[in-house]
Amino acid sequence: MAAILLRHDDAVHRPNCWRSLDRCTVASTQDLEIAVEAARRAQQAWWLSDDQDRARILRRIADEIRLHANALGTLDTLDSGRPIRDTATRDVERAARIFEFFAGTTDRLRGAVVPVQPSRTNLVEYEPIGIVGAITPWNYPLTNAIGKIAPALATGNAVILKPAEASPLSALLLAWIAHKAGLPAGLLNVLNGSGATIGEMIVRHPDIGKITFTGSTPTGRHIGSITGDLLKSVTLELGGKTGFILFADADLDRAADALVFSAFNNAGQTCTAGSRPLVEASIAKDFVDRIASRLNDIVIGDPLDLETRIGPVISARHRNMILAHLAGPSTTGLKRLELPSRSLPEAGFYVSPSIFLDVSPTAAIAQEEVFGPMITVTSFTSDDEAIEMANATRHGLATTVWTSSFQRARRVSREARSGLVWINTAHSLHPGSPYGGYKQSGVGVEMGQEAVQQHMKIKSVWMEDNVWQSPWG
Ligand code: NAD
Repeated sequence: MAAILLRHDDAVHRPNCWRSLDRCTVASTQDLEIAVEAARRAQQAWWLSDDQDRARILRRIADEIRLHANALGTLDTLDSGRPIRDTATRDVERAARIFEFFAGTTDRLRGAVVPVQPSRTNLVEYEPIGIVGAITPWNYPLTNAIGKIAPALATGNAVILKPAEASPLSALLLAWIAHKAGLPAGLLNVLNGSGATIGEMIVRHPDIGKITFTGSTPTGRHIGSITGDLLKSVTLELGGKTGFILFADADLDRAADALVFSAFNNAGQTCTAGSRPLVEASIAKDFVDRIASRLNDIVIGDPLDLETRIGPVISARHRNMILAHLAGPSTTGLKRLELPSRSLPEAGFYVSPSIFLDVSPTAAIAQEEVFGPMITVTSFTSDDEAIEMANATRHGLATTVWTSSFQRARRVSREARSGLVWINTAHSLHPGSPYGGYKQSGVGVEMGQEAVQQHMKIKSVWMEDNVWQSPWG
């Protein structure tokens, strides 16, 4: 069975959970060795099994995910505060589709025959890396975990997953679901614990050949330095600060909807949150009014209530960090739009939305990833200025542009220094489309055929078709 390592004697207090789920078990060094050994034993047989049988199991996991939508969604909502209307529906469906997409790749792992000297044959073969260590953040716990598990399993690897301390529950249920769907023992191992202990042990383990990490840029940089030192393969999906460019010729109503969704979905705790609207000066006031009026209609409250669109943020610590950003020195002297005050539930770590106006694109608040429900509005007067502002950040995850001009849209998409560009849309995702960042937002991509390649090693096999002739004669 897929190993689920739980040691109740060893439970730790989780100070940062939203409700009453305040204890969670952690894995030890010994647990990691057990998981590595189980993964090592299972992986070779998995890779050598029939590729279509592997696909069938991955599809069954997708079916089981849909059958357990409520349970998976509820666990993510209880852990993270993300509203159930998102976790149990969109997140679960996306999770199932990721498995289905990668199931479709197992019998398409083609190599190549390279035309070399006429007397020789050269084959390029793809092989799994072996054991993949996956480390995930607390936002979107289920989909972030599956974005790593599905491509790794589809390419014949075994996985050791460490979910974030704050949101480990859906990963544990997922391991059980995978087992129920027929995934052989040892291929998916979930180890709970802190990043500094079990996370770092996974990164450093000599038998784990690849690390795939999603999280903050500082942690990614630290992990990248270790994998660099150990010469280990790595994928890093890191922080962002999305510029949302709005030209006056855009459909302003739709653009306002898109901005509100992009920036405030998941209480702003999204790596691609459109937290930096860059708005053509002539329509800036009009656009801000439209955003404010939409925000006022949005229910902020109990994430288990189906009406709620914005729930609490992940933890008291994170709320304090957001509030420190919003009220700290980086916002001194900034204009803030007065939004009508709301009564928020007492239990849970809620943050009211904030809109800062006329913010300089270089202001700290417009550069730092706040990861909360806030936006900084900056205006521009030319296309050149808009593009320059959008790129003027150390991050490079996503750029969004709204315009009715095809030429403008294409120019922005060509000149954007980001791994994702959304034109007249926001947060469009598909498991077949690669997802990754430029600059400080990451290394490598997840999803798509590109992710398949990043979970495999390339072997070049040479055969002498005639009798070997030494070049020395
Ligand atoms: P984080 O970096 O604090 O933690 C992420 C994970 O890394 C957790 O599981 C943590 O336990 C682990 N970790 C921490 N230190 C470690 C170490 N030394 N060795 C190994 N593992 C370690 O990030 P977070 O606060 O959980 O998540 C929020 C961040 O994630 C934001 O910056 C957000 O932008 C980013 N994010 C990026 C994407 C993307 O696809 N680019 C998606 C979601 C979130």
